[in-house]
Amino acid sequence: MLWKILLLIAIIVAVLYGFKMISRASDGRQPAARKTRKKGRGTESDGQAVDLVKCGNCGAFTAPGTPCSNCGQ
Ligand SMILES: [Zn+2]
Repeated sequence: MLWKILLLIAIIVAVLYGFKMISRASDGRQPAARKTRKKGRGTESDGQAVDLVKCGNCGAFTAPGTPCSNCGQ
């Protein structure tokens, strides 16, 4: 019975790790997708072009003057 639980945990960890890798890869390739996702969340950029700054630590795009939403830097 124990091996089933361990297998389940291993599968969950593998899926979570896989999602992490996919989101990391898409961050570098398609920053526009992340930009539109951010716009949908907040309304402060309505009608205005906001220059997003690429995080030097993880590569995520964040608004200047705000800490990185991905890694906190
Ligand atoms: Zn970052």
